[in-house]
Amino acid sequence: MKRKLFVTTALPYANGSFHIGHIMEYIQADIWVRFQRMQGNEVHFVCADDAHGAPIMLKAEAEGITPQQLVARIGAERKQYLDGFHIGFDNWHSTDSPENTELSQDIYRKLKAAGLIYTKPVEQFYDPVKGMFLADRYIKGECPKCGAKDQYGDACEVCSSVYAPTDLVNPYSTLSGAKPVLKTSEHYFFRLSDARCVEFLREWMGDERLQSQVANKAKEWLDGEGDKALGDWDISRDAPYFGIPIPDAPDKYFYVWLDAPIGYLASFKNYCAKKGIDFAGFLADPNTEQIHFIGKDIIYFHTLFWPAMLKFAGYKVPDNVYVHGFITVSGEKMSKSRGTGISPLRYLEIGMNPEWLRYYIAAKLNSNVEDLDFNPDDFIARVNSDLVGKYINIASRCAGFIGKRFGGRLRAPAPTAELREIQLRAGLVREYYEAREYGKALREVMLAADVANQYVDLQKPWELAKHSTRADYLHEVCSEALNMFRLLTVYLKPVLPALAAEVERFLDIAPMQWADAESFLPANHAIQEYRHLMTRVDEKQLDALFEIPESAPAKERKKVSDTSKAGSQSHSPAISAPSTPHPASPGHQAPTAAAATILIDDFAKIDLRVAKIVKAEQVEGADKLLKLTLDIGSEQRTVFAGIKSAYDPATLEGRLTVMVANLAPRKMKFGLSQGMILAASGEAPGIYLLAPDSGAQPGMKVK
Ligand SMILES: [Zn+2]
Repeated sequence: MKRKLFVTTALPYANGSFHIGHIMEYIQADIWVRFQRMQGNEVHFVCADDAHGAPIMLKAEAEGITPQQLVARIGAERKQYLDGFHIGFDNWHSTDSPENTELSQDIYRKLKAAGLIYTKPVEQFYDPVKGMFLADRYIKGECPKCGAKDQYGDACEVCSSVYAPTDLVNPYSTLSGAKPVLKTSEHYFFRLSDARCVEFLREWMGDERLQSQVANKAKEWLDGEGDKALGDWDISRDAPYFGIPIPDAPDKYFYVWLDAPIGYLASFKNYCAKKGIDFAGFLADPNTEQIHFIGKDIIYFHTLFWPAMLKFAGYKVPDNVYVHGFITVSGEKMSKSRGTGISPLRYLEIGMNPEWLRYYIAAKLNSNVEDLDFNPDDFIARVNSDLVGKYINIASRCAGFIGKRFGGRLRAPAPTAELREIQLRAGLVREYYEAREYGKALREVMLAADVANQYVDLQKPWELAKHSTRADYLHEVCSEALNMFRLLTVYLKPVLPALAAEVERFLDIAPMQWADAESFLPANHAIQEYRHLMTRVDEKQLDALFEIPESAPAKERKKVSDTSKAGSQSHSPAISAPSTPHPASPGHQAPTAAAATILIDDFAKIDLRVAKIVKAEQVEGADKLLKLTLDIGSEQRTVFAGIKSAYDPATLEGRLTVMVANLAPRKMKFGLSQGMILAASGEAPGIYLLAPDSGAQPGMKVK
């Protein structure tokens, strides 16, 4: 029977570009969706920008635009990433939409009618200058334990102690610098601790719908006692706030996390209206499955609040929540503070094949909540040895003979034992895809490719071609091999949709479904001319992927002021790769244009230091980089700087310059770069290193 599937990925927060973690999640879900469609199932796959909340409101304000303009700008740049990596959402919407307002208010009203909403006064810091309540991340002050200055409202970065914002000494608002005052406001709460919610959630989780690690975590929260007991959920925020108004509650808005997941439904509803699908009817069908792909940082919201909200508002509850881990690069965790990463746009810009990344990510994914490591050498090996060396190779070794010697027509397959064996793997590969064990699925496919290659190696068509008496057998061998290649393409199609389309063109066949693996190409089937299907990865491309782009100093510096929705509000995956500015991206400024105004607090985040270049070296294989060893008084740092075109390393040693000392380390092909030096550049070629006046000492702060 045909399955009916409603599938989503987590909604990205609309204050910044996609990073590699988003792309990984979308690729994971997209493979599953494409696989389900190949089974003949009905799948609706949607996502949306998560648009609301204080970070977007404040960022828009700092840029002098409305939040809607900011969200529209970010929304407009999504397509190049999604198309670029062949991610086929049916619909992309926004949580700042009429559908989401209507659905959020409806769900709220129904929860209220069910007796699950109540209000209570909450005392919170308030910025009297800015006229708004302050979330913890907008409050700083001196650590109550060690006295360190400029510590955030929840924890000290110097002594690591954890406290409440009200414990800070001399607190100030990071928005205005004003001393915050305590002020009381009425907040709205969702009664998650209600016995009905707890009973429902226990039952819902008990159905083995969650991965075991996720279920264990969720049950731990559900069964917590004492100060770990399941709490109710504060769902309101006071004006000014960019969000959805709470019905019958003037100046109160839904907290962004209430309306964000409802955005799944809003996007689907928007899509249904465009396509003439019965939204309510589809969700009400008991056969419909609702499936969310998310990162491990937002399990709490998706296994407690979200199902409980839906249940008691009379909506369909999720059937599955599929959780994945984070992506690391060469074993180093990416995070806002560490910042090592791969820019998806740069990957595309330097001409790397998006299907290499899809294949690599799929090869490393399983159904557990495990982190996935991007290792450049492993990437090259898997793409070049497996994908090109094993799979593409089969077609490239046999197709030419069919075209040149047999008028492009195939023989009926024997079929050989090898072809049968490859065909028999369809069942296992299907089971692995279904279970999101993509790594195992691709291992099976590569074992099947080995069988095909052994067949070709043994029959040696290039030898057969030398003897006119063996023409018939040559025809059989090449026809057999192309049938093997076709089956392998069916198995790889969820991962490599564009390549599969090329193969379908080459074999001159209709788009393949999974069931096509049950049959072979018929006798006399004519194929098109073979054109090379995929190139190998060049190691230089990976060098370029990790290298700082030209005129790096000016562009790199912009990253420091990037802000993202912090803490518990951050959306999956809560990792961030520094994004390489893209000439077409709206955030990019030409070198001569003035940047957006920032507050002194933003500038103060940059730790600029006088640095002495104690060593400057060429980097083997790098076109633009020099490796610098910098002395900043307290320590020495290694920095890879894109200044090779302008400086002979020998002339740099002993010079003083200025470095950004708190820039997140960046993993590069040649090693870890622990900061950045400052240099000027303009429209004309030329890079000019900054230098302090004489008398400055290494380690001095620049401010
Ligand atoms: Zn401290």
